Amino acid sequence: MNVYLDNNATTPLHPEVKEAIISFLDYYGNPSSMHETGRMVKEKIEESKDIISQFLGAKKEDLIFTSCGSESNNTVLKSLLFSKNKNNQLITSKIEHPSVIETARFLKNNSIPVSFLNVDSNGLILFDELEEELSSKTGIVSIMYANNEIGTIQPIDKIASIIKEKAPEAIFHTDLVQAIGKVNINLSSLPIDAASISAHKLYAPKGLGLLYIKDFNKMKKNFTPLIHGGHQEQGFRAGTENTLGIVALAAACKALTREMDEEIKRIKQIRDYFEFRISNEIDNIIINGKNSPRLCGTSNVTFKFVEGESILLRLDLNGFSVSTGSACSTGSLEPSHVLMALYNDPELAHGSIRFSFGRENTRDDVDKLVAVLKKEIGYLRSISPLKNK
Ligand SMILES: *Cc1c(COP(=O)(O)O)cnc(C)c1O
Repeated sequence: MNVYLDNNATTPLHPEVKEAIISFLDYYGNPSSMHETGRMVKEKIEESKDIISQFLGAKKEDLIFTSCGSESNNTVLKSLLFSKNKNNQLITSKIEHPSVIETARFLKNNSIPVSFLNVDSNGLILFDELEEELSSKTGIVSIMYANNEIGTIQPIDKIASIIKEKAPEAIFHTDLVQAIGKVNINLSSLPIDAASISAHKLYAPKGLGLLYIKDFNKMKKNFTPLIHGGHQEQGFRAGTENTLGIVALAAACKALTREMDEEIKRIKQIRDYFEFRISNEIDNIIINGKNSPRLCGTSNVTFKFVEGESILLRLDLNGFSVSTGSACSTGSLEPSHVLMALYNDPELAHGSIRFSFGRENTRDDVDKLVAVLKKEIGYLRSISPLKNK
């Protein structure tokens, strides 16, 4: 029996999403084809897009399908390379997802001015740094809504008003990948210009992302497509649509519309129960980001004197799927860039585990997990050379 506690890395398909996929498997037409086989699929895509845009509170024409959240982030940021304006500075933070951080580094290597904002020990960006960096040279500010490793939620309204005041021309982009499905968000009333979303983080399959550009028709001149070719996505993103993915995402949005409010509460209770138990039953731990607003299902814990990788492997042997920081850094033993930004202490950054709860988890999972954690942390500390330093 495996207990999956890695819902920030990806989510299992919602049962209604599975059904929607199965019933659509025989619709193979190309939505760009003019014949009946194609038209049927085109119709289904439009219908799906209606559901998705309603769920997100966005105008339909402001949503562009992409292949993933990473592509959406890349598209927005790399637009700076082609900007004809002088205001081509990028401001982002040190705790962004690698698809933003690495793109920003790439831009920096290609002569785009980039500023990486620091965060405080709760994971919130430093507003005075933001104010200092903003100027008429700023082209894009990209700050994630919710962090994938520790779950901290940035005060988007406050950031938006600082940008408006100091650099009214700048575009404000936010990575919404972790927030959608976990926070009630209405894109039209969110004070942003662009956002990235990924289907597989909200119980739909991998391989589909969304790029939201507010007032697309007016604003598209500020962005450059990454993929040229066909006329799909209003000519902004070529490539035959991921039809199955789109139908699946619509099914996920439909289910979330119904279930989300209750699920947020339920998942938060499970997460809080977990943190209550380990705080009382395991010593020398830090719950990272605990003092800032956080996603309902994320719990990132540093177990002092032990390495995250060892804990992950021991938990895996016991049937629990968790992660150290972000899945994207698996395979490297670099400490998490997010925890380094919080503490600047490699030891604290190394011993951390991300537990991310989702719709399939129960309180019973926590009871089993805590029992195993106590045993394994006790064992790892008993053999740890760090323990009595
Ligand atoms: C997962 C994730 C992404 C990347 O999305 P993909 O669809 O996997 O490319 C981007 N940003 C955040 C915050 C994420 O958690």
